[in-house]
Amino acid sequence: MDVTLLGTGSPVPDPDRAGPATLVRAGGTLLLVDAGRGVLMRLAAAGAFPGMLSAVLLTHLHSDHLTDLNDVVTTRWVMSPVPNPLTVYGPPGTRQVVDGMLAMLAPDISYRLAHHDDLNDPPAVDVVEVAPGDELTIGEARVVVGRTDHRPVEPTVGYRVEHEGHAVVLGGDGIPCEGLDTLCAGADAYVQTVLREDMVRMVPMARFQDILDYHSTVEQAATTATRAGASILVLTHYVPALPPGQEDEWRALAAAHFDGEVVLGDDLTTISLG
Ligand SMILES: [Zn+2]
Ligand SMILES: [Zn+2]
Repeated sequence: MDVTLLGTGSPVPDPDRAGPATLVRAGGTLLLVDAGRGVLMRLAAAGAFPGMLSAVLLTHLHSDHLTDLNDVVTTRWVMSPVPNPLTVYGPPGTRQVVDGMLAMLAPDISYRLAHHDDLNDPPAVDVVEVAPGDELTIGEARVVVGRTDHRPVEPTVGYRVEHEGHAVVLGGDGIPCEGLDTLCAGADAYVQTVLREDMVRMVPMARFQDILDYHSTVEQAATTATRAGASILVLTHYVPALPPGQEDEWRALAAAHFDGEVVLGDDLTTISLG
């Protein structure tokens, strides 16, 4: 099983970091977890086109995590020679978001259906709204859904992907909580979106300070990884953006609370399990 950080950015635009998105390859099964800004460019760089995805898993419905879902849907649709329905898993509310997105795409869909004689059906998107405790089989992967705490954003979920005796947890956004601990217990790797509390506190903007309420700090992610007994902690969704050369500083903050391997870096950073 491989895990590729397609986008390590956050809502803050960054020329070098795409928005939140992670690709999990479990054998021949490709799972896209979240679909932020620029996801298809990074997916292409990782050697995958949208038509190859087995499913999309959304952790929550914040715009930075799904802003390019419409690109995934449209490009999969127009590039597939035969109907190729896409299944999108996500928390309650996902149906509403996907329906709204398809409504936004209605003019484009009508143009392409009218223009291409061999294109007869609109894009097919199957939405599955999930709840904590759900266990899914997607291709070769077993996926467990867990509750996360990103309040006041609710409901939000994390995913544990298991394949051939290995497990990786995609925590999405949120602070440490029991649901996340349960999901992470015994996992090989734990991927968490993080912020640097010390740096965020230096920015005198109320709206920026608010984000401290509902995101894990680097240190909190490290303590969650330690409680889980994980071997690898993967940090992503860096707030503020991680400038080149600062990786060791972030790694040291995590290492003070976690003895395992701490991975962070540029978009397309990949870890292999097993
Ligand atoms: Zn969020
Ligand atoms: Zn986010």
